Amino acid sequence: MSTDMDIAGQGDLWDPESFPLVVAGPCSAESEKQVLQTAREIAKIPEVKIFRAGLWKPRTRPGAFEGVGEQGLSWLKKVKAETGLKTTIEVARPEHVELALKYDIDVLWLGARTVVNPFVVQELAEAMKGVPVTVMVKNPIIPDLKLWIGGLERVNAAGIKQLLAIHRGFHYFDKSPFRNAPMWEIPIELKRLVPQLPIIVDPSHICGRRDLIQEISQKATDLEMDGLMLEVHENPDVALTDSAQQITPDRLRDLLQHLVLRKRTGSPDFESHLESLRTEIDKLDGEILQILAKRLEIIDEIGSYKRDNNITILQMKRWAGIITDRLSIGTHLGLNELFLKKLLNLIHKESIQRQTKIFGHKTKSESQKPEEKNRLSA
Ligand code: PEP
Ligand code: MN
Repeated sequence: MSTDMDIAGQGDLWDPESFPLVVAGPCSAESEKQVLQTAREIAKIPEVKIFRAGLWKPRTRPGAFEGVGEQGLSWLKKVKAETGLKTTIEVARPEHVELALKYDIDVLWLGARTVVNPFVVQELAEAMKGVPVTVMVKNPIIPDLKLWIGGLERVNAAGIKQLLAIHRGFHYFDKSPFRNAPMWEIPIELKRLVPQLPIIVDPSHICGRRDLIQEISQKATDLEMDGLMLEVHENPDVALTDSAQQITPDRLRDLLQHLVLRKRTGSPDFESHLESLRTEIDKLDGEILQILAKRLEIIDEIGSYKRDNNITILQMKRWAGIITDRLSIGTHLGLNELFLKKLLNLIHKESIQRQTKIFGHKTKSESQKPEEKNRLSA
């Protein structure tokens, strides 16, 4: 997947050399008093550059608090005038964009539920056309990197060059301590594909609970992410939305003080030692690949042997025995059990596929007629 976005430096937004970009503020603006008090406390923390507050809240079911809407814009104008903080809100409709610009909001963000819908993203992009505003695009709630990049590209194509991505985790059905699974491999791949695009991490929506936020903020920093967006409320326990994940301004100050910033490159000595360790890794990877290839060659031999003797490919007893044996060896060697299970399954799947081919069974894609194949990939 290639992408060619025209992204400018972040100008006066923040200095990436000194500290990650910190965006903080309540999940929702609830009242003028709550917004101003929270902003005053946040403004005392010098690392925070942008004040966030949601005015139109995308609630899963109707009937809950859906945000204060337009009236919140004048509260944010006061925040800006009084504290000097820049301001950001979520925009989900073209009218929101117009109103935000009218009230001098500095940064707009597209929410996770908006980015799943290319029609809405396109409408928002049109509304921003030619306006010198900074825009942040959250990942869609489903783990679809193309859709995230598509959202960023639509906004970029409307002339928005001050562009950032926000990683807020992904909806996931399996049990997990997180409200939204971080799936770090996705923002890391985004960084690889679009290195000039800053990525801000939103630990509040990833964690869904206060006690994990420090750890995820540190992890984001360790993974060279460019900033943090944190939900901060003067009194989180009574917050009208996302109460369990909001922290107080004091807690935010503490979190930022304890954040360990790491250098991106080291001294010449460090670099040369790192290089020699990496050479060892390269050699080991080569050995792993050769052993895998040898293993699969033997699998092919077993496949032909079974086929010639009319024996089934899958023999459950043997497979169950392999799992127990390899897990025991692997865990004794200090390897993680879940990792081992995934690895063994992957190797087994490939073995079955190779043997299926040898048995002359057609795989699903081979058995499709060419015209059917074309239709499905159109
Ligand atoms: C929010 O930032 O308050 C919000 C609604 O986030 P998301 O779009 O990530 O769910
Ligand atoms: Mn929220």
